[in-house]
Amino acid sequence: MNIRAVKEGKTDVLVPVHEEGVSFPPSAAPVFYNPAMELNRDISVAATSVFAEKLSERRNIAIEDIRYLDALSASGIRGLRIANEVGVHTTLNDWSENAFELIVRNIRHLGLQERVDATHKNANVLMHEKRFNIVDIDPFGTPAPFLAAAARCAVHLLAVTATDTAPLCGAHLHSGIRKYSAVPFNNEYHAEMGVRILLGKVARELAITDKFMVPLLSHATRHYVRTYLEIGNGAKKADEMLEHIGFILHCTPCGFRQILPGMAVNIASGCPRCSSEALIAGPLWLGKLHDIGFCGDVLKELERTEPGTKEQAKRIIGLCMDELEMPTFYEQHLICKRLGVSASGINDLINTLKSRGFAASRTHFSGTSFKTDAGIDEIENIIMML
Ligand code: SAM
Repeated sequence: MNIRAVKEGKTDVLVPVHEEGVSFPPSAAPVFYNPAMELNRDISVAATSVFAEKLSERRNIAIEDIRYLDALSASGIRGLRIANEVGVHTTLNDWSENAFELIVRNIRHLGLQERVDATHKNANVLMHEKRFNIVDIDPFGTPAPFLAAAARCAVHLLAVTATDTAPLCGAHLHSGIRKYSAVPFNNEYHAEMGVRILLGKVARELAITDKFMVPLLSHATRHYVRTYLEIGNGAKKADEMLEHIGFILHCTPCGFRQILPGMAVNIASGCPRCSSEALIAGPLWLGKLHDIGFCGDVLKELERTEPGTKEQAKRIIGLCMDELEMPTFYEQHLICKRLGVSASGINDLINTLKSRGFAASRTHFSGTSFKTDAGIDEIENIIMML
C-alpha cells in the first residue's frame, strides 16, 4: 500500500494514496480515509478534550488513565489525534487486515506505543468484552449494528457518527424503520428528524441495561449526524430518560405539528388545525440535543487549539449553543411559499417573534430555519405582517 503523511490538527498521520501523492476516493482506498471529515474530527478532538478534563476532575482520574476506544478506526486518524492531542489512553480497532497494519505503523510513526493499543477484532465483540470510559463509533453508513454493544461498553461518554442520512431523515423510509425501529419524516425539518431518530434509538439501547444519556452536543452537518452523549447508570434515571422519548404529529398541508411525549401516546388521527390526515413520526428523542455549558467549553477549546477547520467548527457549535431546545424547527421559505408571500430576513422574523413575547432562535440545521414556541397560527400572522 502506498502511503503519505497528512497533518490534521497537531498530528501527522500516514494515509493511503494510489499514486505518488494522489488520494483515493475514500470508498476505493485499501484503508478508508476521508479528508472531508476533518471538521468532524476537529470537533471530536475538542469535545473529547473538554469531556476528559471534566471526567478527570470529577473522578480524580489522571487524563492518561482515561480509556478511549476508537472502535472503527480505519487508518486510526481519529483515535491517534485523540491520543496525541488529548492525552488519554487510546485503543484503535479495525477488523480489516490492511487497516490494522496501517494503525500499527501509525502508532510507531508517532511514537505513541506507551499510550495507544491496536486491536484487530470485530468491534461488537470487543465492545461486549471490555468497558471504556469513552467510546467513539464512526462507521460506514449506519451505526445501528453497533449501538447495542456500544451502549454496554461506554461508561462515561458515547460519541456516534451516522452517515446514513437518507434512512435517518425519512428519504429511505423503510430502511430507516428497519435500522432504527422508528418512523422518520422526510419533511422540512428532516435534518433534525435524523438527529432525534438516532438519539431515540441510542436511548432505548441504553435503557436495556439500566443506563441513561444526557446529550452534550448533537449536530447534523453535510451528509452526517454526530452526537456526544454523557452516559450514566441507574434504572430510575433510565426511566426518566425515556420520558424524553415520544412522537411528533405533523400535518403536511398546513404545517401544524404537535409533540406527543411518552411511549404510550393517545393518538388522535386528524390534524386539529385543518382536518387533513396527519402523519406520526417516532419513537424519537424529544429532549435536549445540547448542553450549553459543554458547548461553551468546546468553543473555548477550539479557540485555544486552532484546528484546521476552526471557523466552521465554531460556527456550528455557536449555533447549537444558541438554538432553542424544543423540537422542531420551522422552515421560513416553506411557510412563505404556502402563504404566497416573499420571505423577510430571518433575523427580522426572529426579532419580531421575540418582540411579541415568544422565544425564538436560529438553528444550526439550516440558514433559513428558526425555532420558536409560537404556534403555526402566530407564526403565519407575523410572516404575513412582515
Ligand atoms: N473513524 C475513521 C476516520 O475518522 O477516518 C473512519 C472509519 S471507516 C468509516 C469504518 C471502518 O470500520 C473501516 O475501516 C472498516 O474496516 C471498519 N469496520 C466495519 N465493520 C467493522 C466491524 N464489525 N468491526 C471492526 N471494524 C469494522
